[in-house]
Amino acid sequence: MTTPYDHKALEAKWQDRWEKQRAAEVDLRHAERKLYMLMMFPYPSGDRLHVGHGRNYILGDALYRYLRMQGRKALNPMGWDAFGLPAENAAIQRGVHPKLWTAGNIKVMKEQFRRWGILYDWSKEIASYTPEYYRWNQWLFLRMLEGGIAYKKAAPVNWCPSCRTVLANEQVVDGACERCGTAVVQKNLSQWFFRITDFADRLLSGLDGLSGWPEKVKVMQRNWIGRSEGAEIDFPVEGASEKITVFTTRPDTVHGATFLVLAPEHPLAAQLIARLPVPAAARAAMTLFLASAVGRPSSGPEFTATPSSVKATPAGAGPPPAGATTGTIGRPNACAKAKSRSSCAGTAMIEPVP
Ligand SMILES: [Zn+2]
Repeated sequence: MTTPYDHKALEAKWQDRWEKQRAAEVDLRHAERKLYMLMMFPYPSGDRLHVGHGRNYILGDALYRYLRMQGRKALNPMGWDAFGLPAENAAIQRGVHPKLWTAGNIKVMKEQFRRWGILYDWSKEIASYTPEYYRWNQWLFLRMLEGGIAYKKAAPVNWCPSCRTVLANEQVVDGACERCGTAVVQKNLSQWFFRITDFADRLLSGLDGLSGWPEKVKVMQRNWIGRSEGAEIDFPVEGASEKITVFTTRPDTVHGATFLVLAPEHPLAAQLIARLPVPAAARAAMTLFLASAVGRPSSGPEFTATPSSVKATPAGAGPPPAGATTGTIGRPNACAKAKSRSSCAGTAMIEPVP
């Protein structure tokens, strides 16, 4: 064999032909044995695809081509998870408009996909930053608002005073903003929440019906749903009219309780310190500690404190404890946020039931 293998010319030739022939476009209205393949959409907040993306999308492309060779009509679309904080932060960092930054990145990444020889049906491309797309997000949100599933309340967030933005836990490195290094503080901001706990039972029973899923993934999902059965027990506070409500999965062990700890953010913490019969210096020290603890970033080190001077005893004497209400509380775990897009990238396939 004397002809050298010119991969550049060969790849360009075929990629060009696939593009001109629109090789991956499918008309599902007239398709038998159809199949929907969905790769996770990349974030175009960075300016190009990296090797981690390649690991995911090239494997998906191999599967897609295998299915095509078996005669399946597979729809393999691609889109861009392009809206929100990462795009805005990247644009702020570079001093450009997020729309221009995002559109430019999409152009580069699309060309990378082409050069990797990956076949997508680009006629069905979406980008979540376009008004044509997010108007449907808004429409869905309004339905949830009407249904009482979306609600607003104040909750602490990581705040960078220099960038003047909210940061995800992953953007806080050693208590500082990963972008500018300023110390991150906790700020109470009014935010939107979804009542996903209302669906805990349905989510859990749905997991039981999933066949072929690794058990460890199902366990992670169960932990994320965080449904926990137990009781809420009210502890009266000595010399005060307030009570402190504690959730426990083991109300039967309550008589072994010797103290309870309030988080620094608890609305009662500052009030109780103010009322303690202690010297002024001790009160000032506790107030100072409280202020520093409230300002700690949520991903930073945990503060622990045993307020031995705040005594509390469980209400009632014999079991069941008086003031205890048994019930079910679903508490979603805060770690539910995806750590990084490339590490959780995956492929979902939906096969219509014949
Ligand atoms: Zn910052």
